[in-house]
Amino acid sequence: MFFGAHVSAAGGISNAIDRIEAIGGDAVQVFTQSPRMWKPTAHNEEELERFRGRRKEAKVEAVLCHALYLVDLASRDRDIRKKSLVALRATMETAREIEADAVVFHVGSHQGYGFKDALRTVTPALASLLELTTDRLWLCMENTAGAGGTIGRDVAELAAICAALGGHRRLGVCLDSCHWWASGVDVTDGEAVDAAIREVDEQMGLERLRCLHVNDAAVALGANRDRHEVVARGLIGDGLATFLGHPTFRDLPAVLETWPEEGLTTKDIDELRRLHRLGKRRAAARSKRSLQSD
Ligand SMILES: [Zn+2]
Ligand SMILES: [Zn+2]
Repeated sequence: MFFGAHVSAAGGISNAIDRIEAIGGDAVQVFTQSPRMWKPTAHNEEELERFRGRRKEAKVEAVLCHALYLVDLASRDRDIRKKSLVALRATMETAREIEADAVVFHVGSHQGYGFKDALRTVTPALASLLELTTDRLWLCMENTAGAGGTIGRDVAELAAICAALGGHRRLGVCLDSCHWWASGVDVTDGEAVDAAIREVDEQMGLERLRCLHVNDAAVALGANRDRHEVVARGLIGDGLATFLGHPTFRDLPAVLETWPEEGLTTKDIDELRRLHRLGKRRAAARSKRSLQSD
């Protein structure tokens, strides 16, 4: 498993590698442009080349690009849909140039007009984006906390999108621990995580799980609100170990998206690794118990 964080790309996208290296991560997530503006960032050739070179030197195993927050492929506003598609295309293109492994994005919100209609709206856009994937670069939908009409509140919605796209083999999923918790999956409970993973397996296949966002939550289980908290300081607390240590997630990159006010340090990445070790011990104890009871 690889551990890292979302870091700033300020001053040039290759700086993200320096920043993750400085805190001891071997996975990184970046925005390829400002997340609150439609206008794409033009990256110059030297920056892109430096990114690729520095990544090798720093032994960063996984690179994720997060699309901007404004993206909403399900919007009823045609202009927003168009801008969303243009922005996602630009993100995919930069992601290809920096040899990223995934572009992670939020599908959007149907704002009450219903998932079924939204599915018809988002499918052609997603099909055109999937043409930009490569053997290396996947397009990954992120699960949502389930607020309002956000798409991806449960496995069934994500699976329906996969099915509408003919089960495209490079359409993946990024699981966010805070969103899972807020949408009603008790990530602190091994059996609940087992059951949720079984659903993923049955409805779309485990190979679609490509990356994890590791965030604690400031809201209660099932609250359907997206409020992150710094790892181990929220309502999930040490229970995050159960999520992180689940054997299904063994080979995935896991990145932090929420950091303390003083900024990220090596301590934050070490904390992830500690929780992972604790989770692995819990998982081993659980499988031993279930063997004994069989
Ligand atoms: Zn996330
Ligand atoms: Zn969130």
